[in-house]
Amino acid sequence: MERIILRILLVCLLGGTYSCKSQVNCMNTRKTKLLKYPKYLDKDYVLGRFDYTKHSDFMLVPKDLSSKTIYLRKEVLEAFIKMSKQAKKEGVNLKIISGTRDFNHQKRIWNYKWTDKYKHIPEHKRAKKILEFSSMPSTSRHHWGTDMDINDLENSYFEKGRGKKEYQWLVKNAKNYGFYQVYTSKEYGRTGYNEEKWHWSYLPLSAIYLKYYNDKVNYKDIRDFIGSDYAKDLQMIKKYVNGVNKEILNYK
Ligand SMILES: [Zn+2]
Repeated sequence: MERIILRILLVCLLGGTYSCKSQVNCMNTRKTKLLKYPKYLDKDYVLGRFDYTKHSDFMLVPKDLSSKTIYLRKEVLEAFIKMSKQAKKEGVNLKIISGTRDFNHQKRIWNYKWTDKYKHIPEHKRAKKILEFSSMPSTSRHHWGTDMDINDLENSYFEKGRGKKEYQWLVKNAKNYGFYQVYTSKEYGRTGYNEEKWHWSYLPLSAIYLKYYNDKVNYKDIRDFIGSDYAKDLQMIKKYVNGVNKEILNYK
């Protein structure tokens, strides 16, 4: 009797092992199952469809560190404050000039460029023109509370004098605080938006949000604004949402 039970147990164990094609696949399956997203994270969050000013995880950036009323996630702000204190000691001033933007805010930026600034350009080309520097609503990392623009919105500012010193400081030190430049040079095959020396992201959180975005969001979710029909054709998710610095894609 005991032998029969043992034999049944053995068959079950072996069956369990070989139901996966290989040991590596088994481990991957387990890993995927173990990955848990934070409770507050849902599709509305990554699409910017929530009121961050009323979200308990968001905080107002102190006036001396920002150029206007700006909110960020509290963990991001804490890390930024630490970083800016050290920068200041080394003679570098860091000011946030844009932080969290929701769907409607991004829609205002998009609509202005679509219906006014670039209205003379045929639609398909117009979408691409806007996408040199601005996101479609629902696809902006600024929705997440982890991303910010620092000091200036022109690459040329960061290429000489004070701006160059600030940029060099960030390139050398920002990683120690969790911050990475998202839209680096396109020289080595990065797709999507043009280079932005001012846009930095707090990866300990934004890496999780990007993963969630890739898991849950599809082209049907990118809607409710003029020109949204071009999202799929222009491969917004593959080329733009994932058109980021390789260090970000590989971040663990
Ligand atoms: Zn930005």
